[in-house]
Amino acid sequence: MPARLIDGKAIGAAIRTEVAAAVAEAVAAGRRPPGLAAVLVGEHPASHLYVRNKARACEEAGIRSFRHLLPARTSQAGLEGLLADLNRDEAVDAILVQLPLPEGLDSRRILGRLDPAKDVDGFHPENVGRLTIGRPTFVPCTPAGILELLDRSGVELRGAEAVVVGRSDLVGKPTALLLLHRHATVTLCHTRTKDLAAHTHRAQVLVAAAGRPRLVTGAMVREGAVVIDVGINRVDGVLIGDVDFASVAARAGQITPVPGGVGPMTIAMLLKNTLLAYTRRTGQPA
Ligand code: NAP
Repeated sequence: MPARLIDGKAIGAAIRTEVAAAVAEAVAAGRRPPGLAAVLVGEHPASHLYVRNKARACEEAGIRSFRHLLPARTSQAGLEGLLADLNRDEAVDAILVQLPLPEGLDSRRILGRLDPAKDVDGFHPENVGRLTIGRPTFVPCTPAGILELLDRSGVELRGAEAVVVGRSDLVGKPTALLLLHRHATVTLCHTRTKDLAAHTHRAQVLVAAAGRPRLVTGAMVREGAVVIDVGINRVDGVLIGDVDFASVAARAGQITPVPGGVGPMTIAMLLKNTLLAYTRRTGQPA
């Protein structure tokens, strides 16, 4: 039987509606709306598109967005100065620095300058550490979205064999940690993994985040597995995932499409994290 589709568009929209309702309630009670500052350095067209989409999603949810578009020649000190101002700004609950930064800027140092209480991307070392030891934190938006997709699709994680392909700080590693905290037995694969198929074949939950088009094929997947495709690859102008959808959907129990799976969850989780930052900072339930 072909796999059931996990509809990230619908699940993402439901989360955005939940956030908008909570914001409307706070504003109706006379409180200020949450605020998110997005910092973008340079002219990278895809980054401009991402920041525009994030700002639009904020506004639709009633969250104020402050866009800081800086020229590529911005200095390290200049950018750190802006972050210090945003850290102090009472109207700003959440700050995101759009990556990658232009060459010459030290991303690690910049991310370390964020107030951890406003770091809604979860990139500050303190938040990374808190995630590692399973303490409340901001979970990076894409991994948080993956867990939300699994939860809202009724997937049992406790005791499940979970395999994550890709070990980046942005996606693979935090996803593996989240699955581990939920008591899955987790295997993390990467380019030096000897027999990738031997691992993926064991997975009841398989997350593909390698950035390699159609890396995971039907023959590599266990019958009935839940397959989450994080990959976004543009091949001949078409967006395709890390999973060969047709062959994998024929064996899997549930599967995310590309586009329309993990992608829409990333912005939805950014809004959710912004609401969380607001709630923690104002000490009020939103
Ligand atoms: P990344 O930093 O390039 O990391 C890729 C990881 O995959 C690395 O750990 C790499 O291993 C591993 N890998 C690459 N080829 C492999 C192979 N043949 N076999 C096993 N492992 C392999 O990428 P990323 O930032 O994690 O992103 C991964 C994908 O997700 C990309 O397509 C990206 O566009 C997409 N993405 C989507 C969203 C979304 O919202 N849907 C968000 C973020 C990223 P090594 O460590 O050994 O090099």
